[in-house]
Amino acid sequence: MKEIRTVREKLYWSYANLAMAHTALDKEQTKYGPFNFMIRSRLFKGLITGSMNIHTLLDDEKIKLGAGNHCSYCGAGGNLALDHLIPRYSGGQDTGDNLIYACRSCNSSKGKLDLMVWMEKQKKFPPLMVLRRYLKIVITYCTTFDRLDMSLEEVKNQQLPFSIEHIPIDFPKPSELIMFYD
Ligand SMILES: [Zn+2]
Repeated sequence: MKEIRTVREKLYWSYANLAMAHTALDKEQTKYGPFNFMIRSRLFKGLITGSMNIHTLLDDEKIKLGAGNHCSYCGAGGNLALDHLIPRYSGGQDTGDNLIYACRSCNSSKGKLDLMVWMEKQKKFPPLMVLRRYLKIVITYCTTFDRLDMSLEEVKNQQLPFSIEHIPIDFPKPSELIMFYD
């Protein structure tokens, strides 16, 4: 992987890593292999050249509806609330894409923090489906507001509803990841 310089490269690389991790989890692998790396490089190249697209949020929506009994962040059951994935405080929308079920404890501990900043503080990595939803919102935002071709240096001076700096480009091994809580 060459050096990542633009917002587009960083977001697409992260999304391609997500797909790589997804395929490894599907097969219950404990580490990544050539097939997973191939998925990653193909998707990255496809996204950069425009021959592939980020899928719509529809399949995430189905998972959310099916998952309603557990906190999307930690898996706790019981008393759940709807949490804004991108906090309202930072400009996150009050729409279905941005709302997921969370327990009271995660909801209040996350508060106004960016998802990845909050996860880093706890030394955790989000469930892949949560990260996927988050990345899609970030990519949609950056597409709409013309941020994709900004350099990572340039974008540091922008007020954004999320932290580009904290978007993960190195993913933990599959044995340390979960897809979603059910
Ligand atoms: Zn929770």
